[in-house]
Parts: sequence; C-alpha cells; structure tokens
Amino acid sequence: MQLELLFKVLVVGDLGVGKTSIIKRFVHQVFSQHYRATIGVDFALKVLHWDKDTVIRLQLWDIAGQERYGNMTRVYYREAVGALVVFDVTRASTFEAVLKWKDDLDSKLTLNHGRPVPAVLLANKSDQIACQLPKLDSFGRENGFVGWFETSAKENTNIEEAVRCLVEHILNNE
Ligand code: GDP
Ligand code: MG
Repeated sequence: MQLELLFKVLVVGDLGVGKTSIIKRFVHQVFSQHYRATIGVDFALKVLHWDKDTVIRLQLWDIAGQERYGNMTRVYYREAVGALVVFDVTRASTFEAVLKWKDDLDSKLTLNHGRPVPAVLLANKSDQIACQLPKLDSFGRENGFVGWFETSAKENTNIEEAVRCLVEHILNNE
C-alpha cells in the first residue's frame, strides 16, 4: 500500500521577492522576468514520489497583490502544515519584513499540539549582488526557522533542497 499525503504549504514574503518565480521554477521548471501579479490566492500542485511507500501532493499557496498588507487572512492559513518565507537579498527592507511574516504565521497557525508550523527561510536572488545582511544561520536559528537556504529561482539554486528540508520537518510532525 502506498501512503498518499496532501500538504498545504504557504509561500510568503514581500512583493517582488520571487515567490511566484520560486513556485514556477519548482513546479514547472521555468523562469521568466515577467510574472503578472495575479490577484488573490493561487496555488500550484507538485507530486513528489518521496519514497517507495509515500507519495506527497504538495500544494504551494502563492499570494499575489496582498503582500502590501503584510499579513493574510485566516482562510489562507487554514490547514497549512508548513511555510516558505522568502526575502530578496538585494533589498534589505524585504529581509526586515521576514520577522513580520514569521510572526503573522505563528499567530494565525499552530499545529494540534500548539507548536508553530515548520518554516524555512529563503534568501532569494542569490545570483545577484547581496546587500549587507546578518548571518543567515544565526538569524534563522534564533528566529525559529527549521532551515535556511540561499536560493535563486533564476538559476535553479537550492529550491529543491529548501522544499525537501521543509517536507522532512512536516513529515516529522505527522
Ligand atoms: P513575487 O512578487 O514575490 O511573486 O515575485 P516574482 O516571482 O513576481 O518576481 C519578481 C521579479 O524578480 C521578477 O522580475 C522575477 O523575474 C525576478 N526574480 C525572481 N526570482 C529571481 C532570482 O532568483 N534571481 C533574479 N535575478 N531575479 C529573480
Ligand atoms: Mg507573485
């Protein structure tokens, strides 16, 4: 018997950090300079043949046009089991917003036993010259992330690794 799991994963972060690009890269193996900002919430499905006994359907929930509010409605968060929190290494303001996104996540979403859902931090656009930022690993550890990766949706760097890390933590909570 194969186990089939459905995981709802949120992708949050400020406008323009590359959330849609990361999802398109991961799900469709493409990259474009121009994704129109879709309005509302959009999600993409990726089937992972995790191991011989387990198939995982990963629902990646994008947000679009709502980033400027800095938080999302509870409907968006409902039944999510993990999150990718994305910032853009070329824009310090998007890094400063990371904790706001993490706090919003933790205040609206907890697992049954009251623990926060696992969140992985993505320092995206790592193919570009980064601005001055604190060390990612101490920042990630101190702020309750389960993992942190320098990613590039453009060059397809570390996105699969980041998702894999998140899924491993989600599975540990099952
Ligand atoms: P979103 O608003 O967070 O969904 O961001 P988008 O995915 O729409 O990306 C915003 C812009 O950044 C687009 O022009 C993308 O092509 C670009 N972009 C996204 N990811 C990367 C990346 O890893 N490297 C570079 N150089 N550009 C990126
Ligand atoms: Mg987008």
